[in-house]
Amino acid sequence: MDFASDNTSGASGPVMAALMAANAGAAMPYGVDPWTAGAEKAVQALFERDCAVFLVPSGTAANALALAALTPPHGAIFCHEDAHIANDECGAPEFFSAGAKLVGLPGQQGRIALATIEAALARFPRGLVKQVQPSALSLTQATECGTLYSLKEIAALSDAAHGAGVKVHMDGARFANALARLGCSPADMSWRAGVDVLSFGATKNGTFCCDAVIFFDSALAHDFAFRRKRGGHTLSKGRFLGAQMSAYLRDGHWLDLAHHANAMADRLREGLAQTPGVGLPWPCEANEVFAILPRSGDMALKAAGASYYHWGARGLAPGEAPGTDEVFVRLIPSFATTPDEVDRFLDILRRASGKA
Ligand SMILES: *Cc1c(COP(=O)(O)O)cnc(C)c1O
Repeated sequence: MDFASDNTSGASGPVMAALMAANAGAAMPYGVDPWTAGAEKAVQALFERDCAVFLVPSGTAANALALAALTPPHGAIFCHEDAHIANDECGAPEFFSAGAKLVGLPGQQGRIALATIEAALARFPRGLVKQVQPSALSLTQATECGTLYSLKEIAALSDAAHGAGVKVHMDGARFANALARLGCSPADMSWRAGVDVLSFGATKNGTFCCDAVIFFDSALAHDFAFRRKRGGHTLSKGRFLGAQMSAYLRDGHWLDLAHHANAMADRLREGLAQTPGVGLPWPCEANEVFAILPRSGDMALKAAGASYYHWGARGLAPGEAPGTDEVFVRLIPSFATTPDEVDRFLDILRRASGKA
């Protein structure tokens, strides 16, 4: 019963098989190989346009290097105050941008509202030398609360950013889970809605260690190859990145994996909704379930070996905070989660509350 994160799973079978297949023979190093070229073509076909594609081995590398390409050292990067780039990347965006300032914005359920970004842009007038200059807006899709921006919301936020000369970055660590929910095309959820650069996450959803940075405006990528190399993220045996991404995208494998993870999240959430004493503060719009559990249930689950994080009161409105006999938890099913794991989890929780 592992719901700690979607990166506690291994890689998918087809991805591991592709790594083994790519292991045979010799290939040119540093991404000048047929697997990497194939992966770049597959990404371009998927997004229905010419774009500059760079494979990297982690989401932190994707985000930090992508943002560094959008901002000067004296720039401002706007993001949600709970964003991964602000809280979970050890200062990598600041480091790789040589010191740009991350400006964290509030917003319910992980989302930045249009009025919030408009007000933030007004607080940083262009040309005022004592202030950092607005450079990038980073949106997380799906958000850190497991919610989604609609296509309309992405477009409106992008318009506001572009109107102020600010580029739009999307942290798509769970791009596949979000896309599977919205049922739109990858192009619709990215460049058609105004996204300039996408961190296309794949690791949480089935690769071993491969995400992509996708520049929809190739001009923005002019020095990215140097940034990636200088940052130590250009792998000499780059074919293994190409092999992972190619297998991940082949025949819709990536979306199959995401649909499965989302379905497991739905099964979990529906079961929790029918369990007395459980609170569900937010909707489940991707593959993350946030729940307030009775402490007795939490203790029984931990005793049975279930794995998940206690979430404090992060992201909750003041009135929603858990009571002293409750805990707020984050539960993330992945592509590898089984229905049986979900059902056992629910069963233990119900027994603990005497309602089995
Ligand atoms: C997991 C995650 C990342 C990438 O993290 P790495 O551990 O560096 O691969 C980026 N953004 C979000 C929102 C994430 O959840």
